[in-house]
Amino acid sequence: MAEYGQNFLVFGSPFIGEEEVAEVAHCIRTGWLGTGPKVARFEREFAAYKDIPPERAAAVNSCTAALHVSMIAAGLQPGDEVITTPLTFCATVNAIIHAGATPVLADVNPVTMNIDPAMIEDRITSRTRAVIPVHFAGRPCDMDAICAIAEKHSLKIIEDCAHAIETEYRGQKAGTMGDFGCFSFYVTKNIVTGEGGMVLARNEAEVSRVKMLALHGMTKDAWHRFGDEGHKHYFVAECGFKYNMMDIQAAIGIHQLARVESNWLRRREIWKQYQLAFADLPVIRPAPDQAETRHGHHLYTLLIDESRSGISRDAFLDAMTAAEIGVGVHYLSIPEHPYYQNRFGWKPEQWPHAMRIGRQTVSLPLSAKLTDSDVERVVSVVREILSLH
Ligand SMILES: *Cc1c(COP(=O)(O)O)cnc(C)c1O
Repeated sequence: MAEYGQNFLVFGSPFIGEEEVAEVAHCIRTGWLGTGPKVARFEREFAAYKDIPPERAAAVNSCTAALHVSMIAAGLQPGDEVITTPLTFCATVNAIIHAGATPVLADVNPVTMNIDPAMIEDRITSRTRAVIPVHFAGRPCDMDAICAIAEKHSLKIIEDCAHAIETEYRGQKAGTMGDFGCFSFYVTKNIVTGEGGMVLARNEAEVSRVKMLALHGMTKDAWHRFGDEGHKHYFVAECGFKYNMMDIQAAIGIHQLARVESNWLRRREIWKQYQLAFADLPVIRPAPDQAETRHGHHLYTLLIDESRSGISRDAFLDAMTAAEIGVGVHYLSIPEHPYYQNRFGWKPEQWPHAMRIGRQTVSLPLSAKLTDSDVERVVSVVREILSLH
């Protein structure tokens, strides 16, 4: 890949401070690179941020892994159906398939872009066992309705909180409303560890199962095997995976977490600036927040409808890139991808709201690292592109 030009504003570029650099250096100097005390501290502090006991958090090496092991810990069996949204990253659906279950899609509400509870009810069969709501862009799903449906049909809820670290819904924190909450610390997310993830679970037994599944199905991890208490045998209790987080990753995460609220405030400020700056343009901006919710402000998305905006979404993406502003597409709807079409016979038209959003959406830079002049540059380039059409 070519190196970016000096002025290129990289989409989703993380804000990393000197504290992270020092903590990683400490990690390397002590020689404890793998899962150890820093992972334990990161779990504890993340649980505290979420107002839950420390025993209910398990760090893993990605959100994909978090989703996968959560579904196994939820007891899903081959043939079970799991309902999720077509407007998500492929990992949500792939994890369902990895867990041996069958993904079923329920279309989104066109305004909130989150899974529509009425559509979930429509897709329930005698085989449905779980639902995975994705708090899209950081906006909480309609959890009252989703929890009521889950209760009525005895479904497990696994929240995909990859966008939703700071999100709240009626006083409850995202990831603590369902049976499991899965987080991502991938490089573009609101907290980064390079690669990384976290599972929050309702009870300690489930968290222990998640931890065991994430480390080969072994009954003891290395930190507990090679500590100063003498040798301890471990036993393999089931066929697990290699999904544990390293201390090098947690070293970054600890200091990212310490800055999560100030970063959120900065992104909220940028969000408000965008909302004002684009109010008169022929585009659709994000809907206002629902009452009693807190938006995580992970993605700021515009919808570019060619018949209204005078430019196609893809031409808009090209124009932004030509102006050295990195943009994202979150997401082409799941059924646009050949794998799912071939395997499940899905066609995008079956989920018309997700299809339209996926074909019109553009995500603008929304990193806490953006300077005021970066934000002004994004605003003026967007205004210029759209007023030329
Ligand atoms: C990023 C993302 C994931 C996957 O996260 P990883 O940590 O990269 O595995 C899953 N779901 C959604 C909605 C995401 O945005």
